[in-house]
Amino acid sequence: MHQNQAPTDKEASAEKIQVELFSRTLARHGLDLRKGETSTLQINVGLLCNQMCRHCHLEAGASRSELMDRDTIDEVVAYAKRARFQVVDITRGAPEMNPHLGCLIETIAPLTPRLMLRANLTALAQQDTDYLRELCTVNRVVIVASFPSISGSRTDSLRGKGVLEKSVAMLKKLNELGYGMDGTGLELNLVSNPTGAFLPVSQSQAEKRFKADLRRKWGLAFNNLFTSANVPLGRFLVWQRDSGNLESYMQKLSARFNPCTIEGLMCRTFVSVNWDGYLYDCDFNLARGAYLGGRKRHVSEMAGLPEPGTRIPTGNHCYACTAGSGFT
Ligand code: SF4
Repeated sequence: MHQNQAPTDKEASAEKIQVELFSRTLARHGLDLRKGETSTLQINVGLLCNQMCRHCHLEAGASRSELMDRDTIDEVVAYAKRARFQVVDITRGAPEMNPHLGCLIETIAPLTPRLMLRANLTALAQQDTDYLRELCTVNRVVIVASFPSISGSRTDSLRGKGVLEKSVAMLKKLNELGYGMDGTGLELNLVSNPTGAFLPVSQSQAEKRFKADLRRKWGLAFNNLFTSANVPLGRFLVWQRDSGNLESYMQKLSARFNPCTIEGLMCRTFVSVNWDGYLYDCDFNLARGAYLGGRKRHVSEMAGLPEPGTRIPTGNHCYACTAGSGFT
């Protein structure tokens, strides 16, 4: 068993649902999913999280003990020195809960023009956050925060009780530091995903609505909103299967397959390194245990960027990235 397999239900799989296999859909359109020029190093620093979101494809939570250790962080930084990425993206569970996060930010920031931190706003409030927030400000770290909905009941049903209130309080602190404010150069982006088995609304429309509502309700500002469909993996897959919605959700996703999304998919330009140092084409393949280019490799073995043209492993979870306007 791969160590990232879902602990709640190892039998759940989007492949068991009666939709055309994603690989067949690609072939029917004369398409293939292969690596392009890699630009982004995504670093998954662990599965420990103070929340237990119902849509989490990695099943992060308070009971998870997997965390990237200091030696692996040094190996990741050494790789970033060898390969030089245009973007470095530090991500989940809640990255703030990895005790080495500060060291990672300090050592990797000089190696990339764009460093992003996917902050769990409530964990950012719990930890030694003055230090962390200052570090982000000094290093011009782009903060990307989950903010599924402006409705308290919808956010809390997906992410846990009181999450909206705590998230709003942290966004206020970030705005006070200059994040999301005009002219500061401190970028604050939000990510919204549907609170169930339906597709996200148009990103530009949602951004306009979020900007207006956050300003009106709480006086908050941010730069960009990204919307994404929930990926049928991990806890979201089990939730949808148990509630009887998985089949219709998969049918909805596959019916909206859009061949134009393939060119811009993140797996074409990403290397995603797990907490244990093993490599994947994206965070979702990481959750499935499908290694980078189908080959198990540790970050310490990588001489440089992945070879363009290498085939990317796919599965039916890929329908979530390719439905409608896609997830890049
Ligand atoms: S899940 Fe999305 S990003 Fe990952 S391999 Fe499939 S299409 Fe690419």
